[in-house]
Formats: sequence, C-alpha cells, structure tokens
Amino acid sequence: MKPLTIDEIRQVAARINKRTYDYEAPFLQKVDQILDDSEGKHVETVLGEAFTGLLAQVDDEIKEIESELGVRPSCALGCDHCCYFPIIVTRLEVKLMLKVIKSWPAARRRKIAAQIDRYVTTYQAELKELAELDFRKDPAFKERYKQKNLPCIMLDQETRTCMAYEIRPIPCRTYLNYASPDVCGESHVPAEPLSFEFLYPFYVEGMDEVLTEILEVVDDSALGFSYPQDAAEVHYLPLLLQEEWRGGAVIAGE
Ligand code: SF4
Repeated sequence: MKPLTIDEIRQVAARINKRTYDYEAPFLQKVDQILDDSEGKHVETVLGEAFTGLLAQVDDEIKEIESELGVRPSCALGCDHCCYFPIIVTRLEVKLMLKVIKSWPAARRRKIAAQIDRYVTTYQAELKELAELDFRKDPAFKERYKQKNLPCIMLDQETRTCMAYEIRPIPCRTYLNYASPDVCGESHVPAEPLSFEFLYPFYVEGMDEVLTEILEVVDDSALGFSYPQDAAEVHYLPLLLQEEWRGGAVIAGE
C-alpha cells in the first residue's frame, strides 16, 4: 500500500476521532471469556492469559479501524526506530511481563536473561540519567530520551526485533506509522505516526476487572504484587525492569 502523506494521515486521524464505536464492549467481552474459561486453571495462568489477551485485543481494535479506513501501517519487522523511544509502563505491567516470560521455554528465557544482564551492565550510566528525566514535568522528555540513543531493554540489536513481542507494552502497539518508513529515521520525534493510545484505558479497565475477581480468592502478595499500588507506579520500562529483575530470579525455573 502506498505510504500516506501527512495531510492524508491528518484526515485518517479526524475520521478515527469521529468514529462512533463502543470500545469498552470488546474488552469486557474478552474479560468474560477469560473468566468463563478459567475453571480448573492455576491463577497465574489466568493472570497471564488476561494480560496477553487484553494486549492482543488492543491490536485487534487497531486492525479493525485500519480495515474500516482502508489503511495499513508501513511499520515492518526489523524496523526498530520506535524501540529507542521512552516506553512508559506501570510496575504491575513489568511484573506481569516477567510472569509471562517465566512461562516461556527455557531457551528463550535464557536468551532474555542474558540480554537483560548485558543491558544493565552496558547502560548503567544511561539508566542513572534516565531516572532524572522527568516525563511528568519536562515537555521535551521524548526528544531528550530519543537523543540518548538508548535501545529498549527488550530490543535484540542484532536482529532489530523485540524479544518479548507478544507481550510488548501498549505504547509499542499503539504508535504506528502510515507514512514512508523513512520518516522515523529522519527525525527524533516525527510528526507523521499516529497514536492509538486512547485504547489504553479499556485495556486497564479489563485488567482491573480480572484482578478484582482474582484477588477475591488469592492475596496479591501471594502473586508477587501489590494492587492497586503497582498499577499506579509509572516509569520507563528499562528502569522498572531493572528493579524487578533481581538477577533473573523472577524468570528462573524450568
Ligand atoms: S518492548 Fe519490544 S517493541 Fe517495545 S520498545 Fe522494547 S523492544 Fe521495542
């Protein structure tokens, strides 16, 4: 598909804004489906399914919009410009990512463990600087972050692919380029990409519904988190992941 011009992208954004659609309904349907299918399953499994299922629902909603508007992103495997952006997540999301990674095959876990260990050692100075870059107060934080040229902690720099693609956070899913792929390399913060971040609250609401059900039967501390505190704590992905990593102990085990 031909890349869109910035004017065409603005028209697409306007059409998305005018769209009348109940975004909440499919997320709540997904929650019902996950809870209906949860009988006999370990609570950690249900939690993992809810997390991956609701993340995938965000992708599905974006695909639905794209098909309705007849557009397709120019983002492609091996293009990693947005993996140098600040990815802001909650501590709960990082803990859930690590829980899901723990369920992956040992070889994949070992690869991720080696990547994180290498990253934390290589980028120690940059990670300290990041703690000072206040995304709440500094309106230019995105540009400043991007100027650091710090890759994401989950980016395999050799293949230029995400090592945790299925569970990549919401900002990685909702930032999409419909213009020429070149625009992402030409500017630190290009104007062309569209953000579907308006889907974030529906995913959060879905997770909250599932967690409320789960926490009626299991204590949050038994699951390794504090709710809702962990859902309210927000920071850059590499910083929170480094804190939760604990030398790889959180993803160890066969
Ligand atoms: S989590 Fe994956 S997709 Fe998102 S920025 Fe990191 S490497 Fe890229």
